[in-house]
Amino acid sequence: MRILRAAHLGTCFGVRDAIALALKHAEAGPLTILGDLVHNPTVLAALEAKGIAVAQDVAHVRTPTLMVTAHGTSERALARTRALGPTVVEATCPLVHVAHRAVAALKREGYHVVIIGQRDHVEVRGLTGDLDRFDVVLEDADVLALREYPRLGVAAQTTQAVERVLHLVDLIRRQFPQSDVRFVDTVCKPTKQRQSAAVGMARQADVVIVVGGRSSNNTSELVKTCARYCHRVHHVQTAEDVRPEWFDVAKVVGLTAGTSTPDNIIDEVEARIRQVANAPEARE
Ligand code: SF4
Repeated sequence: MRILRAAHLGTCFGVRDAIALALKHAEAGPLTILGDLVHNPTVLAALEAKGIAVAQDVAHVRTPTLMVTAHGTSERALARTRALGPTVVEATCPLVHVAHRAVAALKREGYHVVIIGQRDHVEVRGLTGDLDRFDVVLEDADVLALREYPRLGVAAQTTQAVERVLHLVDLIRRQFPQSDVRFVDTVCKPTKQRQSAAVGMARQADVVIVVGGRSSNNTSELVKTCARYCHRVHHVQTAEDVRPEWFDVAKVVGLTAGTSTPDNIIDEVEARIRQVANAPEARE
């Protein structure tokens, strides 16, 4: 059996920079992160071990400094938070800022904004938080339920699968042939790289292991993408989740990981696969 790592996998620069910023500010004084800095319980536990607090609501912040996560937030939410007194550090990923600017431009130019993404995801709440009217779609049924507007401006949550985004944009265009539909592709480059590398890997694999937090959107998207090309896909958070019976008749085991998965967790999962499947060290 051999292990085939996807050409792009694991932590993206946005997550890495956000973690580094949190650690830097925590050295200077007490820090609370508002929400999950990344959707990975192992990373969050490591930050808490450094004395960094996590609060899901600004009302529960007890430190003079709080940090907005890599997922970003709206200007309105930022203003509300600052009005309560704390110093706000923004760890918002630059590529989330790109998506915010795209949405602001669509609004300014008179488009009714439609976001392709998960309605309750923190990034989508940030993208829509400065809009009075907008729609969020994720499935065909959501598009079929949209009202007609003369101008529809479509952008996406940065971690959505490009194939789904393009499919929904096409559906919107077919649903409203009279409307001016403008699409701005805001899916981030690291997500695209991980998605396309996952396809290349999953095509060759008998079993695929995807490493990442259960609540990480881009990890779930990787699981769905791999499942289109390989029938045996398993999502694990840590090496402890790996089960020996998954590799019984596998010749090639594919490995990928979401953008919030640290390298050491991926290495531990790979070592565990080798251990339970009795595979040699050489990597593809
Ligand atoms: S997944 Fe993309 S948008 Fe999100 S933090 Fe990473 S690089 Fe930035």
